[in-house]
Amino acid sequence: MARKKLIAGNWKMNCLLEDGTALAKAVATQVKGGKFDCDFLICPPFTLLGFVKKCLRGTKIALGAQDVHFAEKGAHTGDISPLMLKDLGCSYTLIGHSERRVDHFETNELICKKAVAAHAAGLNTVICIGETGEERDAGKTIKVCQEEINGSVPDDATAKNTVIAYEPIWAIGTGKTPTAADVQEVHAAIRKALAKKLGKATANKMRILYGGSVKPSNAEELLKLPDVDGALIGGASLKADDFIGIAKNALK
Ligand code: PEP
Repeated sequence: MARKKLIAGNWKMNCLLEDGTALAKAVATQVKGGKFDCDFLICPPFTLLGFVKKCLRGTKIALGAQDVHFAEKGAHTGDISPLMLKDLGCSYTLIGHSERRVDHFETNELICKKAVAAHAAGLNTVICIGETGEERDAGKTIKVCQEEINGSVPDDATAKNTVIAYEPIWAIGTGKTPTAADVQEVHAAIRKALAKKLGKATANKMRILYGGSVKPSNAEELLKLPDVDGALIGGASLKADDFIGIAKNALK
């Protein structure tokens, strides 16, 4: 089953107006100038969404947020609703990134609620899962991923509105990555858990990204694995050449 690869950048809490728009323009220029048989997604901080959207005009690069609230509107100071993201031109939002699970105590239940609200508003979601270093050392990687799939992915998830990102927490921003064999084993187990929850047909079509210290030099090995359908990229998405270099190597 051919799944089109998705190359997604998570800028996290980085970039101000000047460097953020320059980065978006540089990525847009390179995507326009090349032939890429993959989808692209950029998730800048909330403050830059409207500006980045303008820089991406005329390209096939999708715009995404890094989080969303589950409510439509109302008394939720500091939060952003799914419709607000749609209004700004977003077609995606990340949900349940480990940094939100840790910094903001987000639970599987809350993440699932956010995903339902995002889908209802017509947004696609990238739902992030992954184990800590301690869980990995204790041999619990697959169990943790199964639990996070069962708890975070809503029953209305389809291969169109949902992408899963497997991001081992110990690999994020550390320069460390699991072996290719380990990545494939976990992705296959995630697909199996998705099949149990959503049915085999949906699971076979759903994209599962790998995230955690992806760079141009390891992209080819990781992204050619049969159950790896793209990458969620943090640090390396802050340099246009690295972000595009990952896409080029992933498509080799
Ligand atoms: C991330 O936080 O989503 C991520 C994958 O970060 P990095 O690529 O920097 O490890």
